[in-house]
Amino acid sequence: MGFSCKGVCEDFRGESIPNGSRYNYGQKRCSLCSLFLTVPSVRCPCCGAVLRTNPRGKRR
Ligand SMILES: [Zn+2]
Ligand SMILES: [Zn+2]
Repeated sequence: MGFSCKGVCEDFRGESIPNGSRYNYGQKRCSLCSLFLTVPSVRCPCCGAVLRTNPRGKRR
């Protein structure tokens, strides 16, 4: 509710990594903006959603 992409995330967009995980480069994914971001915080500066820091489902 109230979370929406304002385009701010574009400013924090992480570099594209040709091969390998972007998570390894400290990039975090915002599921709402569908972007990988390079930000120090755990929340998206754009929509405020909690960012994903691990590859999906890959956890033991
Ligand atoms: Zn956004
Ligand atoms: Zn976002």
